[in-house]
Amino acid sequence: MLPPSDADNVKVAVRVRPLNKRENSYPHQSSANFWSITPTSITQYVDSKPNALHSFSFDHIFTPDATNGSVYETVASPLVHSALQGINAVIFAYGQTAAGKTHTMLGNADDPGVTLRCLSQVFQHISAQSARTFRLRASYIEIYNEFIRDLLIPSNDNLKVHQNVATNTVYVDAHNKIVTSLQDVLKIISAGEAVRTIGATNMNEKASRSHTLFTLTIESTEIPQPSSTTAAPTSGVAVRTSTLVLVDLAGSERASSTKAQGTRLTEGGYINKSLLTLGTVIKKLTSEKTNSAAHVPYRDSKLTRLLQPALGGNARTVIICAVTPAILHVDETLSTLKFASRAKHV
Ligand code: ADP
Ligand code: MG
Repeated sequence: MLPPSDADNVKVAVRVRPLNKRENSYPHQSSANFWSITPTSITQYVDSKPNALHSFSFDHIFTPDATNGSVYETVASPLVHSALQGINAVIFAYGQTAAGKTHTMLGNADDPGVTLRCLSQVFQHISAQSARTFRLRASYIEIYNEFIRDLLIPSNDNLKVHQNVATNTVYVDAHNKIVTSLQDVLKIISAGEAVRTIGATNMNEKASRSHTLFTLTIESTEIPQPSSTTAAPTSGVAVRTSTLVLVDLAGSERASSTKAQGTRLTEGGYINKSLLTLGTVIKKLTSEKTNSAAHVPYRDSKLTRLLQPALGGNARTVIICAVTPAILHVDETLSTLKFASRAKHV
């Protein structure tokens, strides 16, 4: 497997969604604070003061008019390309509830999300070439209250994380369904989404607390060319394997321990352990000279155990941080932008 270059390892993008009707009609939306958004910087002003309060810069900022198509083209497509060449790739959506994570990953019929577009790229690539034989498998899991459920076999709701030290890979025993067409994958996603909805008494509440991970495992072998009649038998041909993981994270308002004080402390599971640990892992990776696994608490949560190879440098990763420009959520937006700034230095 080709090692990705360090500079390419983790990329951070910010996506600002449009205001919805209710937010737009909020009386102070335009008069008190506002965000100035350009393709590379996002700045918060208070209009009574001339100076910016906070300013952040990122490689890619998607303004409210950006489509899922442009998000895909800019940050996702290059990772799919890598995954097809045998390099592991992870794309995840981070942000507070209702900031646009699921819109970005799954989208809708008018503007399909990054997931569908990535998978479509995979099938197009495979059918347009004849040098390799590809075998694809898909799994779909959910992490909810530190339990991993197989969305393809919902009764399997306590999957364990396994680690292969020799290959530096981490996996769960989720059902891996062989897929041969985009339709196969779409069926898996809609079946998985149906399972999530059925199991939830309050879908929004559950979506804000759970993480979903869609994994496409891509295996390929070179097809021996006709001229080489004396070539080694195909059993000797090396298999190239990589994974493309697409993650829709729990709402980042669950990541802050400071909010778990007072009465909320008694609401079980208010702090999302996986999300809190993800924040800690990123903090450690950015603050310590040595990225030695011994110092980084990957093992403290299911999510970070599964993402360890990606965050630890064995994959190309894109973090899409979704934010709303609504003044009502200025604190959560700032907190997401701060997370994004830290992640930029991983
Ligand atoms: P999250 O998954 O982060 O909780 P959603 O993706 O469900 O948030 O978005 C909340 C609402 O805002 C949905 O109705 C969604 O369709 C809408 N929305 C989010 N992002 C956009 C966008 N970029 N353009 C248009 N509508 C959006
Ligand atoms: Mg969502």
